[in-house]
Amino acid sequence: MKYKNFPMVPRVVFGRGSFDQLHEILLPRRKNSEAPFIYLIDDVFEDNQWLMSRVPVMFRDQIIFIPTEEEPKTEQVDQLVAYIRTIHEAPSGVIGIGGGTVMDMAKAVAIMLNNKGKAEDYQGWDLVKRPAVYHVGIPTLSGTGAEVSRTTVLTGPEKKLGINSDFTPFDQVVLDPELTKDVPKNQWFFTGMDCYIHCIESLNGHYLNAFSESYGEKSLDLCKQVFLGEALKEEEAQDKLMMASWHGGMSIAYSQVGVAHAMSYGLSYLLGTKHGLGNCVVFDQLEEYYPEGVKMFRKMKEKHEIELPAGLCSNLTDEEFNTMIEVSLGMEPLWDNALGSDWKQKIGPEKLRELYEKM
Ligand code: NAD
Ligand code: ZN
Repeated sequence: MKYKNFPMVPRVVFGRGSFDQLHEILLPRRKNSEAPFIYLIDDVFEDNQWLMSRVPVMFRDQIIFIPTEEEPKTEQVDQLVAYIRTIHEAPSGVIGIGGGTVMDMAKAVAIMLNNKGKAEDYQGWDLVKRPAVYHVGIPTLSGTGAEVSRTTVLTGPEKKLGINSDFTPFDQVVLDPELTKDVPKNQWFFTGMDCYIHCIESLNGHYLNAFSESYGEKSLDLCKQVFLGEALKEEEAQDKLMMASWHGGMSIAYSQVGVAHAMSYGLSYLLGTKHGLGNCVVFDQLEEYYPEGVKMFRKMKEKHEIELPAGLCSNLTDEEFNTMIEVSLGMEPLWDNALGSDWKQKIGPEKLRELYEKM
């Protein structure tokens, strides 16, 4: 048995308004006045003075707004890196401000600024050769755990797979729950449920150990308070969900996700369904695998009056179903965690087709 030697984010600041400390945090990291910081910011904030006026831009620093209709693609990473190189060969750092999409983009860009070739060459485990450029993650939406994870999930020409490496985690994270105050309700729920599902899959998986369990239980408890408990003050709910996301990410860091993520990857690869929503659509059909978890999920959904889209798979061809099934079954560690080492005896294309047809 070889145990993972897991890299953690070395510096974190937490607190409402902590975003205002960014200037002070970055100052010692600036190489010189020529080497800029590159801010990748969710384009939802483009006209948001409350946030934009507080971004500490100096000298040749650049702000690049990132669209989030689609999840990050390797090609987009390559284009951004090429553009940034035209500004400066070795910027002082990359700062990602947004949800999972922008945080993943920032991690990938920071890696690729210091590594040769294309982003698609590094999709997999431990393929990155050189440390990334200094990179900072600032979540504005809670749930994915991307702020703490060792991966950056990218869709490439051939696969949807993360760049999993010791160089992927952020050097610094700023957790300011106030930044999440304007997230639309449905999005709050879907990305929040990503966190809830991380906990259920981690806590019910074969890879579970005391490390993962301690973080998973805390995260699950926070999710219950936020989504099922007595009404919390808005600020309190934002604080708790941000910490739930962090702990959920820490839990899967030392275990693995399961059936919902494996199947949701298939949906997202074929139909472009976004991560949080896709997980909800899939999880709703997984009573057989996570009976208690699904029961609680449905209570949360009802309490917050969330409607999930139906019939996503109703007009698919056999070929399309097969593509989804292939992508999903390719996520071997997820099935191994969810169903055990004999998972191939327990799940196959027919069962997956039956489940997908319900979605
Ligand atoms: P997202 O980043 O795609 O954002 C969803 C929507 O919320 C966007 O329209 C965005 O503009 C909006 N938004 C974000 N913050 C807002 C705010 N404060 N106010 C108003 N609107 C706001 O959603 P997400 O669920 O956070 O991230 C999904 C992505 O994360 C996927 O690409 C997925 O693959 C990735 N992911 C990564 C990891 C990891 O460990 N690296 C884990 C899970 C998911
Ligand atoms: Zn997830």
